[in-house]
Amino acid sequence: MQANKLLFGTAGVPNSTQKKNNPIEGVKQIHSLGLDCMQLEFAHGVRMKEEVSSALRKVSYELGIPLTSHGPYYINLNAREQDKIDSSVERIIQTAKISDLCGAESMTFHAAFYMKDSPFDVFDLVEKSMNVIEERLSRLDIEIELRPELTGKTSQFGSLDELISLTKNVSSCAPCMDFSHLYARTGQYNTEEEFKEVLTRIKEEIGADSLANMHIHISGISSNSKGDLKHLNLEKSKFNWKDLLKSLKDFNCGGYVICNSPNLEEDAMMMKEFYNSL
Ligand SMILES: [Zn+2]
Repeated sequence: MQANKLLFGTAGVPNSTQKKNNPIEGVKQIHSLGLDCMQLEFAHGVRMKEEVSSALRKVSYELGIPLTSHGPYYINLNAREQDKIDSSVERIIQTAKISDLCGAESMTFHAAFYMKDSPFDVFDLVEKSMNVIEERLSRLDIEIELRPELTGKTSQFGSLDELISLTKNVSSCAPCMDFSHLYARTGQYNTEEEFKEVLTRIKEEIGADSLANMHIHISGISSNSKGDLKHLNLEKSKFNWKDLLKSLKDFNCGGYVICNSPNLEEDAMMMKEFYNSL
């Protein structure tokens, strides 16, 4: 069997980059730190000049640093008003267009809030929008993996079960596995046995290919009963990242591991070093 590799990178431009608001410099910094990939963060809106995206594509290709992306926070496919749902769809499509221009192959976003609705109804609505998005992107000839994120708050759509079902129903969808959120959301999934249980489910329900091609988020985290409270550096958190990386290795997982601890590259490098020692 072919050995798959995990690539390690940061959620956004590394902190140590001289020009912190310049993603092109960020990619160069990722490369000089010995990291492997970088996630473009469009958290506060999808704005990027075309010359920046083409330069990003070029530098990412030349340095061998692939990119992923994260859509804006203002997305809610279960909004009360139809125009807010429509603009959420537009934001996802905008993110996909720019990500594609930059050469990113996988994008994540927070799909919806439950707004106290039944999770089953919310699922149907999200699925409907995802089908519309998939169809529009295919007409634009944009091929990108749409990865709703496993979210950390219990008020947000994006449980493990929901993402697995969505992946089964919408062909360009796959989960963005935020294991720190899974832990924060449930108060479980922090042991090797539980990590392996999750990976086994992914393998059995959505296929072994999905383990070879993952988009993962890891950070330190603290949580309360409502889920995700605060992102922390790994050292300050109880999140069991070492057993997670061991489990990912044992399952021959490949793909992107994006670190969104506050110290970004420090935890990303620590994880990469540990993973390489396994
Ligand atoms: Zn996120």
